[in-house]
Amino acid sequence: MKIRVGYGYDVHQLAEGEDFWLGGIKVPHTHGAVGHSDADVLIHVICDALLGAANMRDIGFHFSDQDPKFKGIDSKILLRDVMTLLRNEGYEIGNIDSTICLQQPKINPHIPEMKACLSEVMSIPVEDISIKATTTEKLGFVGKKEGVSAHATVLIQKG
Ligand SMILES: [Zn+2]
Repeated sequence: MKIRVGYGYDVHQLAEGEDFWLGGIKVPHTHGAVGHSDADVLIHVICDALLGAANMRDIGFHFSDQDPKFKGIDSKILLRDVMTLLRNEGYEIGNIDSTICLQQPKINPHIPEMKACLSEVMSIPVEDISIKATTTEKLGFVGKKEGVSAHATVLIQKG
C-alpha cells in the first residue's frame, strides 16, 4: 500500500457584510471572508493538502483566481473536483485533520454541521474528518479580526 501525507495553509481577509462560508456552511456573523471564490478557507486548505499529498500542485493551479469561471464559485464544487482528480489516480482518503484560526465568532458549535457537510461532499465517513478551532489570543491579523486562516493535514492511500 502507498501512503502519502499532505499539508495546506490559507488566509482570507474578513470584511463587514460578506457571507461567511466556512467548512461548506454559512456561519452567521457580521463579517465574512473575501476572495475570488466564496472564500471558504477550510475547504481551500483541505483541497491544497489533498493536492499536495498527491503531488498535483495547488488549488490556484487547478482553479485560477484570474479565471472568471470561478468568480464567486461554491468551494464545495472545487473540493468535489479535487476528489475526482485524486480518485482518478487511485487514491482514497485515510483521514483529515484541520485547524481554523479565528478570533470571532466561536466556531465549535458549527463543527458537527461542517463535518457532516464535508463528509457528504467528499463521500468519506464523518469519523475521518477532524476540525479544530483556535483563536490567536488577540495577536496578529487573526486576533485583530482582520482575517481568518486555516491549516490541514491529510493522509491519502492507494492499495
Ligand atoms: Zn483560499
